[in-house]
Amino acid sequence: MSFDYDLFVIGGGSGGVRAARVAAQEGVKVALAEEDRYGGTCVIRGCVPKKLMVFASEYARLGEDARAYGWTFGEIAFDWPHFRGKLHAELDRLEGIYRNILASNGVQTYDQRARLADPHTVELADGTRKTARHILIATGGRPVLPGLPGDELGITSDDVFHLDKLPGSILIVGGGYIASEFAGILNGLGVAVTQYYRGAQILRGFDDEARGLVCEEMCQNGIDVHLGTTVMEMHKDGDGVRVKATNGTERRFDKVLFATGRVPNTDGLGLAELGIDLGRKGEVIVDAYSQTSVPSVHAVGDVTDRVNLTPVAIREGMAFVETVFRGNPTPVDHALIPTAIFTQPEMGTVGLSEEEAREIEPVEVYCNSFRPMQTSFAGRDDRVLMKLVVSRATRKVLGCHIVAPGAGEMIQLAGIAVKMGATKEDFDRTVAVHPTMSEELVTMKSPVRTA
Ligand code: NDP
Repeated sequence: MSFDYDLFVIGGGSGGVRAARVAAQEGVKVALAEEDRYGGTCVIRGCVPKKLMVFASEYARLGEDARAYGWTFGEIAFDWPHFRGKLHAELDRLEGIYRNILASNGVQTYDQRARLADPHTVELADGTRKTARHILIATGGRPVLPGLPGDELGITSDDVFHLDKLPGSILIVGGGYIASEFAGILNGLGVAVTQYYRGAQILRGFDDEARGLVCEEMCQNGIDVHLGTTVMEMHKDGDGVRVKATNGTERRFDKVLFATGRVPNTDGLGLAELGIDLGRKGEVIVDAYSQTSVPSVHAVGDVTDRVNLTPVAIREGMAFVETVFRGNPTPVDHALIPTAIFTQPEMGTVGLSEEEAREIEPVEVYCNSFRPMQTSFAGRDDRVLMKLVVSRATRKVLGCHIVAPGAGEMIQLAGIAVKMGATKEDFDRTVAVHPTMSEELVTMKSPVRTA
């Protein structure tokens, strides 16, 4: 049977574009459909604009610290429209690069929504049908509102980058990556930030000691964090929103940002109709090779709700091409993925938290929390944390947790050692780089506790 294409990719984000490009470079005929902007969540409304906002938000403190170091300059003020204009120009540039990658590799693109009509047929929004030997679903995810009275008055992370002006005050609901990162960003930009999280500590699932320090430092930086608290209902109040909370309070905020999770984009794709297995959140169920229950259909990235991170989607896309077009079955390795949370202070982590590790085997914990030289000299009380969780039986470092400026950069490198199976003694054999914060990772002599 002949097909229009060897591969039809639905979704032009990180995973879809990488798979399309690498497959096209193998000489196969590839098409890709994208209904929105190329680059997907990461480039258009996620990692990239978020990180640029983190940079923007850090200058206020840096300015204050510079004075402590002897610099003098006039009043510093943040101009949101100036920054937002530059931000969107940069996103336009990046989107152009993504489009160009596809065009220069001979991938046929369709700027419209697509759905599956049968296991080998894609139907585009204009009614055109295209057949393909393989179909790859890479449609990503989107933020969801929690479904409480008045929540339509709130915004999500997608909207933050488009605000006409920065609000005077904001309530951020949630305690995950997105809520905690935006709390730091908006606080740094001068917005009065309140954060409600329903659980006992933000960043659930990460090492307790590390997330405890992040939360403490966020509070010290001026964020008003309320734990064990969430929204009951919301009402319009002039230009703002009146919020009734579970802690019995009623307060007015200029804006409310819901960062209460994301769901996979599978609505209206025709997947269930084809008998493709979906999970409880609507995620596409795949095997280790990203294959769905219909053999000609694969799925990668956030739409599968495995590990929702850009580099993981990219890996999944490449493993898919390796498996399907290079005849080399390659499962995706989801073990020991280093990751950073761009809170202020940043957190970098790889491997098991202390709590997870001690459920599995006896461990030693090496940990040091201290005031780093740079901010301490400027008169700040900021603390950082360096922590290793070590197996007592094998001496392997099972987990490494860093809370510090630049923790994302540090954990990328520590992640190599942990992925290679380095022991505590391997860390200790490495000479310290002095004076740095991360030298603590190779100089912690005695465990602070065993468990
Ligand atoms: P998360 O699932 O990480 O966090 C959602 C938060 O909202 C949790 O604190 C959750 O509480 C809370 N919540 C969920 N439902 C409700 C509700 N009905 N009422 C009140 N609170 C609620 O989602 P995010 O949106 O923050 O991030 C999504 C994913 O995106 C992350 O898991 C991550 O994979 C990725 N990401 C990665 C980044 C990075 O690498 N730096 C940055 C941003 C996102 P509870 O803990 O109790 O469930």
